[in-house]
Amino acid sequence: MTIRKVTVLGTGVLGSQIAFQTAFHGFAVTAYDISDDVLAGARDRIAKLVATYRDEVSGAGGGKAEETAAGIALTTDLAAAVRDADLVIEAVPEVLTIKEQTYRQLGELAPEHTIFATNSSTLLPSDMKDFTGRADRFLALHFANQVWKYNTAEVMGTPETDSKAYQAVVEFATAIGMVPIELHREKAGYVLNSLLVPLLNAAMSLSAGGFAEPEAVDDTWRIGTGAPYGPFQILDVIGLTTPYNILVNGGEDGQQLAAWLKTNYIDKGKLGIATGEGFYKYTA
Ligand code: NAD
Repeated sequence: MTIRKVTVLGTGVLGSQIAFQTAFHGFAVTAYDISDDVLAGARDRIAKLVATYRDEVSGAGGGKAEETAAGIALTTDLAAAVRDADLVIEAVPEVLTIKEQTYRQLGELAPEHTIFATNSSTLLPSDMKDFTGRADRFLALHFANQVWKYNTAEVMGTPETDSKAYQAVVEFATAIGMVPIELHREKAGYVLNSLLVPLLNAAMSLSAGGFAEPEAVDDTWRIGTGAPYGPFQILDVIGLTTPYNILVNGGEDGQQLAAWLKTNYIDKGKLGIATGEGFYKYTA
């Protein structure tokens, strides 16, 4: 199973980054989205990625980033998008019915040999495998936001995923400059969020409970472990809305933390780096 042609479904936050990173490493990339209006937005995202890669990624100067952008084919025609794809990476919204509708169409339109990989953060591949009509060539390939910098790619199959398809995706991840993280069994949150979410929740519990200020919690984590960032600095990067939405739908402890976040930060417009202030203040 050799992967040469790659199609990315969804050109939003992650889809545009995955398409760019893949094209940057020399693969033929087609990116699909639902309308011309959305594709106009995709062009803007890709133009911003050109600037980011030039500034932050070695080897992206001398016209390489512009060439990368120009090489990404954008289309609203799903059949044409997947006609000769070796790998389809799905990054459509995190809504099971949208994933189902997408995979049912894809299962009919893609060639027999095409491997499907979902970038879903919270759904397990087992939740979706039966929509694909090819459970043996379906698995998760999970990127982190800002793929050029935070370059883990978590690879997670179901018991039905063929080991050759799994291996082909691991090799592909390496070929596009990612560090493949192989999971042997399905786990909600993969490796990264299985570690990160409890850490962030513990940090918030310490401050919400009046035990220690965010700065003291972060100092402890950085000095005590040598980590470059403390949990509250990480929360400011993620943005406070995402953890709030997760906590508010969780158990009683989660709801208490959500209420604390809302009263002290979200209602005051302190949403993290994106708004100039979260747990810390940022100057442009
Ligand atoms: P997003 O909302 O920014 O982008 C989703 C894109 O899919 C949109 O451009 C939308 O138009 C398109 N799309 C394609 N087919 C569609 C359809 N049938 N109906 C509606 N929209 C359709 O979302 P995102 O943040 O890029 O997330 C996409 C996937 O990546 C999700 O599964 C999410 O869990 C995962 N993910 C996101 C992040 C993140 O930080 N944002 C990180 C890792 C994984």
